[in-house]
Amino acid sequence: MAANPAEKEVIPEDSDSKAQPKRSRDEFVFDKILGEGSYSTVVLATDKVTKKQYAMKILDKRHIIREKKVPYVSREKDVLTRLDHPFFVKLYFTFQDKDNLYFGLSLAKRGELLEYLKKVGAFDENAAQFYTAEIVLALEYLHSKGIIHRDLKPENILLDENMHIQITDFGTAKIIEGGNDRANSFVGTAEYVSPELLQNKVAFKSSDLWALGCILCQLLSGRPPFHAPNEYLCFQKITKLEYMIPEGFPDNARDLVSKLLLLDPAARLGCDQMGGYPPLKDHLFFEDIDWETIHEQTPPKLMPYLPSNTKGESALRSDILIGDGSSEEGSELSDWELFPSSTKSTNQTAAGSEGQEREEQLKQQAKDSPWNQFVNGELIVMTGLIDKRKGLFSKRRQFILTDKPRLYYVDPVNMDLKGEVPLSDSMTIEVKNWKIFFVHTPSRTYYLEDPTGQSQKWADTLNEWMAKRKARNTDKQS
Ligand code: ATP
Repeated sequence: MAANPAEKEVIPEDSDSKAQPKRSRDEFVFDKILGEGSYSTVVLATDKVTKKQYAMKILDKRHIIREKKVPYVSREKDVLTRLDHPFFVKLYFTFQDKDNLYFGLSLAKRGELLEYLKKVGAFDENAAQFYTAEIVLALEYLHSKGIIHRDLKPENILLDENMHIQITDFGTAKIIEGGNDRANSFVGTAEYVSPELLQNKVAFKSSDLWALGCILCQLLSGRPPFHAPNEYLCFQKITKLEYMIPEGFPDNARDLVSKLLLLDPAARLGCDQMGGYPPLKDHLFFEDIDWETIHEQTPPKLMPYLPSNTKGESALRSDILIGDGSSEEGSELSDWELFPSSTKSTNQTAAGSEGQEREEQLKQQAKDSPWNQFVNGELIVMTGLIDKRKGLFSKRRQFILTDKPRLYYVDPVNMDLKGEVPLSDSMTIEVKNWKIFFVHTPSRTYYLEDPTGQSQKWADTLNEWMAKRKARNTDKQS
């Protein structure tokens, strides 16, 4: 079927066609899907001749036209064409066929910064400083080109093979013509959107500096500062500048955040009215940063930031470094509390057994245990209250280990099943001290704190039941 002539008019033609011969789909081997957006699929593609790999963004023309997204696609292409900087995704070429538009982008091999943040909970000060500095340099360049990103957030910060940032998603960016430092119309993501966008539907370059403040908060605490159960409440918090920085947040970072998260866009550190980027880069938080060579440096290893809850104890470090992986858990952000005070443990264990005895135990459990309703007919072998930490935040949960084994966690106040730690043979348990243990799963590390000090018992029981499961599986196979 021939392309609809109307489509030809609205879909942007290749601007680089004069400089280079047009590419075509046949020149590439398409491999796995790297990600999917609302209007596109991004696929790993290898040039058959040069073997160079690209992230090929494929957009369905009809879908874009139907959804009236042509201006966004044009904007993205227009902005990407203007950018040439190591901290931005690079657009190498575009082409189209009857059905699709193709954007040949540099491959951000390590995926989204957000996935790493979910995996470790929060970054330590060193890593937060490094990545914030890279974002500052990227914004300095972007703003010097008269471009406002308008939707800066950890999902839009990708990572290249060497773990340096590659900022993406320019569909909602704005090019400011003639030095006019403002752009109209509302865009953005609730938690990172600036007050001026909400109130006056106007964006300035410093709206990106607001987002930078939000991201710095999130990197160090595990959660963006303006968080609420719904968008409306989130917007209210933003316009009232109602945010809370948790205890344990480093002082220099706190000071920087307070100079970025200001209602007046002209008062934010880094904006033109405040002297531009030099005073921002001179802030004490960036004291150790070598701005000239940062893109050539080896980024710090990603380590979780877990300052101690207990006075006198030093911050915790995981012995296990973070590898690749994606996070499995959806957000569970509605009822957090900060370092809840210790309560008496209700730990209990039961020896697992087969057949008759297990049936008896199950009957008893159904009568006696309030947790029975959550365990799908499995026998509970250990339960207890545990503080599940994520960054600087912590939630108290009833953890329930069954003989399957499965490890469930329940909100004990609302008696609501919140999730399950995915147990697998590739999981490892790391006991840090008598209270704290980490469960490393391929997709995420769980930082768990037993206020009653039975971390070793949890680790032993978990390992014991995982070993039993392994033995059962081996028996089945032989
Ligand atoms: P939406 O348009 O819905 O906001 P999006 O902008 O996140 O979506 P895309 O830019 O189409 O969508 O990207 C979809 C996903 O593909 C991203 O979330 C990212 O994980 C992955 N991706 C995009 N660009 C690249 C790239 N250059 N390298 C590697 N992965 C990428």
